[in-house]
Amino acid sequence: LFVSLEGIDGSGKTTQARLLAERLREAGREVVLTREPGGSPGAEEIRALVLQGDTDRWSAETELLLFTAARRDHLERTIRPALVRGAIVICDRFADSTRLYQGLSRGNLRGAVDTLHALMIGVEPDLTLLFDMDPELALSRAKARATAEERFEDFGLGLQQKMRAGFLGLAAEFPERFHVIDAGRAPEVVAQDAAAALEARA
Ligand code: ATP
Ligand code: C5P
Ligand code: MG
Repeated sequence: LFVSLEGIDGSGKTTQARLLAERLREAGREVVLTREPGGSPGAEEIRALVLQGDTDRWSAETELLLFTAARRDHLERTIRPALVRGAIVICDRFADSTRLYQGLSRGNLRGAVDTLHALMIGVEPDLTLLFDMDPELALSRAKARATAEERFEDFGLGLQQKMRAGFLGLAAEFPERFHVIDAGRAPEVVAQDAAAALEARA
């Protein structure tokens, strides 16, 4: 089972990925907890490249190619082998983040995103948990946790609002795999909903 976690910056994806992995491991399942950009040695190198330096270091098109290259390596080296073994793959962001961040926020590249995805990636998660919440609250959470790595985070409320609407749009576009969770609640309550959604799908 391939599960992706999506949502705006600060919505609790990384926290919930960890909680979900713990819960499934306690139940005796093999879990591969991974993330994007990154998730394989080569893709982590690309992550370091794309997350450092100025936002305009690469054109929007070049950035899309780098994210796609990272995803291809992650898929070949980490995700596919884990799925073949029968493990549950929990991925902190996947292609939906690219549909929005590279496809919408940095340029009008959704057509290119879809073409590259069809050509080089070709898989979608079985289940996508969308952690949906008020952008202002998410922003204050993300700010409290900010680290030096995060060159993408300009902490703009406008961008967060646009991305929230974008994720809800993707949930409407792919209703068969999206499950929207109210992430503006306590972590344990959110985790309970996430686990229930996964059980319903497994
Ligand atoms: P990013 O997209 O920037 O990686 P994220 O979606 O992975 O963000 P987290 O890093 O999990 O979000 O959470 C952001 C911050 O909010 C962290 O400090 C985390 O401890 C805290 N946090 C996570 N979930 C909750 C919650 N349900 N209630 C309150 N605080 C939370
Ligand atoms: O989720 P994580 O904090 O690891 O992501 C690191 C940064 O990369 C975030 O600021 C996120 O907005 C950005 N990102 C991006 N395009 C993606 C995935 C992540 O711009 N496809
Ligand atoms: Mg995170």
